[in-house]
Amino acid sequence: MSTNGNPQQRAMPEVDRVAANRAAIAARRARAELKRRLRSGEVSPLRVLEQSRVPGSTEASLRITDFLLSFPAIGAVKADRVRDELGISERKRLGGLGGLQRERLEGFVRERTGAVPSERPPLTVLAGPTAVGKGTVATYIREHYPEVRLSVSATTRAPRPGEEHGRHYFFVDDEGFDRMLAADDLLEWATVHNRHRYGTPRGPVLEAAARDELMLLEIDLQGARQVRASMPEARLVFLAPPSWDELVNRLVGRGTEGAEERERRLETAKVELAAAEEFDEIIVNDEVPRAAARLVELMRGGS
Ligand code: 5GP
Repeated sequence: MSTNGNPQQRAMPEVDRVAANRAAIAARRARAELKRRLRSGEVSPLRVLEQSRVPGSTEASLRITDFLLSFPAIGAVKADRVRDELGISERKRLGGLGGLQRERLEGFVRERTGAVPSERPPLTVLAGPTAVGKGTVATYIREHYPEVRLSVSATTRAPRPGEEHGRHYFFVDDEGFDRMLAADDLLEWATVHNRHRYGTPRGPVLEAAARDELMLLEIDLQGARQVRASMPEARLVFLAPPSWDELVNRLVGRGTEGAEERERRLETAKVELAAAEEFDEIIVNDEVPRAAARLVELMRGGS
C-alpha cells in the first residue's frame, strides 16, 4: 500500500474512499450537464448565478472560466480578459465569489443577456419552505414595487394586529369559505399547518392577466402545485434559505421546543426543500431587498 497522500486520505477507510470517488464522479457529471445546458440556452446564466448561492449545489462548484466559456462568442482569450476585468482569479468557483465579485459578474451577465428577455409570465407564484421569509419578501415588494399587484387571499384565520380586511387578507368564517368553494371562486386553496384554510380568489388573477399586469401570489407549496396543474403558463418561484443550517435556526429558534417537535419540524423542512425541483426558478433569500429585486426582474420577463 502506498504511503503517499495526505494523512486524512491515508486514514480514510476503503468504503469511504469508494463513496467519495463515486460522489466526485457524480459531481463532475452534474457539472458537465450544467455546462451543456448553459451552452444550449436551456438554463439562463442569471439563474445559474442565483443557484450558486446555495452551498454544495452543482452551480456553486462551477469554475468561473467554465461559466464564461459557456457564453456564445466567448473563447479562452476573451474569458481570461473578462475574468481579469472583473477581478476574479482563475480557479475561483461561483460559490466562492465575494460579494463585490458576484455583483460585477451579475452586471456583466445582465449587460450581455439583457437584449433577450424571456416571455413574461401571466402570473408568478412565490412559495417555499416554512419560515423561509416569503411573507417578508412579499411585504417588501408591496412597499417598494407599486407596479406589482399582490393577490389578496381569503383565509379562515383571525386578523393579526395591523392587518386589514381586503388588503392583507379577506377574513372569512368557515361558512364564507365553503361558499367560495361551492361557487368555484378559488383558483387554489389549502389547509395550512393543519389549522386554517387559505385560498386565492380567481377573479382578480384572471383580470390581472387580461390587463397584462404583474401579479404575484404568495402561497404555500400545496397551493403552488394546484396552480401548476390549472395554469401551466404560471411561473413558479421557490424561495430557498441561504443554507440548511439557516433554515434550521429559523425553524427551531432558540431550542424552546421539545425534541419531538424539533424532529417534526426538521422532517417537514426536508420534505419542503425537496420540492424546489418542481419549480421553474429558485431565489435564495439571503437579503430581502436583493431577493425581491430578482423576483421582480423575473416577473418583468427577465431570465
Ligand atoms: P399567515 O397566516 O402567516 O399569513 O400565512 C400562513 C401560510 O399560508 C403562508 O405559508 C402563506 O404562504 C400561506 N398562504 C397565504 N395565502 C394563501 C393562499 O391563498 N393559498 C395557499 N395555498 N396558501 C396561502
